[in-house]
Amino acid sequence: MSNLYHESGHTKQTAYKVPRMERPIIGIVGAGQLALMMFEASLRMDLDIRVLATDADDPALRVVPGSRVGDPRDAAVLLAFASEVDVVTFDHELIDIASVRSLGVAGHAVRPGSAALAVAIDKARQHDTFSRLGIDQPPTVLVRTESELRAAMHRLALPVVVKHATGGYDGRGVYVVDHEQQFDRLVAGGVLGDGEFLVQPKVPIDAEVAVQVVRSIDGEILAYPVVRTIQEDGICTMVQLPAAIPDALARRATEVARLLADHLDVVGVLAVEFFVSGGRLLINEIAMRPHNSGHLTIEATVTSQFENHLRAVAGLPLGSTAAVVGAASMVNIIGSDSSPAPRPDRAPIDAAVHLYGKSHRPGRKLGHVTAVGDSIEDVVARARRAASALEPQGAGT
Ligand code: ADP
Repeated sequence: MSNLYHESGHTKQTAYKVPRMERPIIGIVGAGQLALMMFEASLRMDLDIRVLATDADDPALRVVPGSRVGDPRDAAVLLAFASEVDVVTFDHELIDIASVRSLGVAGHAVRPGSAALAVAIDKARQHDTFSRLGIDQPPTVLVRTESELRAAMHRLALPVVVKHATGGYDGRGVYVVDHEQQFDRLVAGGVLGDGEFLVQPKVPIDAEVAVQVVRSIDGEILAYPVVRTIQEDGICTMVQLPAAIPDALARRATEVARLLADHLDVVGVLAVEFFVSGGRLLINEIAMRPHNSGHLTIEATVTSQFENHLRAVAGLPLGSTAAVVGAASMVNIIGSDSSPAPRPDRAPIDAAVHLYGKSHRPGRKLGHVTAVGDSIEDVVARARRAASALEPQGAGT
């Protein structure tokens, strides 16, 4: 750590004894679509944000003034970024906890804090936390070596799901293993790599649901309505409000999210994903930031998840999470092979369009659309139509 970083950190520590409530500068580590949508929210709230992009073509970098590019896992880069802002928050989990911890040690405000983030970025620690709190989850075996993996697979019986404890997202780092030969191919191809893994039976899924809660600096928690998420190949393609699950399950999902937010002392948005399996609610994973399952809160609730995340980390009062519509549906626009970028000239009249300005790559989330209204059938149909009009393959080019 250079003196410069050390000194500016030290100054912050003194400055931060009393949080500046009026108009703190919020630094977001990450400049993807979540940072982009937080930036949009910051404009409406007259809040000042900066982003630390990993890549020069990250979408928020194009629009957020005073942005930086650097490796977010590098403690010196993080410290330099933190010294330019009043509070640091995150739009992704590809971070190094020791580096984040060093920000706190240097007196910078980090929200959510490093202890909470350490759980969020590691599915093995999530699993331990869920077990300790008595939250139902799929049976899970934690392993590190190939032979442990193979033994776990035999113990649980095929098919199983093998997941990297860290570094995965959008289904990357999640492998469904139906037969032993498939496992052998993953091992032989070096696909699994090193680290810690979770092995779970492939549970029969009736539905997947998610809930976001937002927790303020002084522990107030507001919950968004539970939504249904639809995944294809491990990536979320659609989100629907209402979730259309029994009330008791929706209540339990919200209760679990509140419990976790309190237990982990989260500041900001916490998203919790669940499976509904055989009428039971099983927790899958958590994310400690705005989440894809909450994009529809922009159009469907009083205060979006993006605005509430900023409000929470800035120490401002939270906004209502109540729905303002009877139904909403969000469809992701995902890059496919051999296709150009989504076409804004194909924007529909009856759905809200969000294009992220990302360079096209297969499997990459390039944008989303949200339709709101009174009936779930109507909003799902409109969102689907809107996405296929905009989608590279739908554009017919
Ligand atoms: P990511 O962190 O990439 O979102 P998840 O752990 O949420 O990974 O897994 C991605 C998807 O894979 C889930 O949404 C679900 O559809 C499927 N999946 C994950 N674990 C299981 C499981 N134990 N049984 C059945 N399907 C699963």
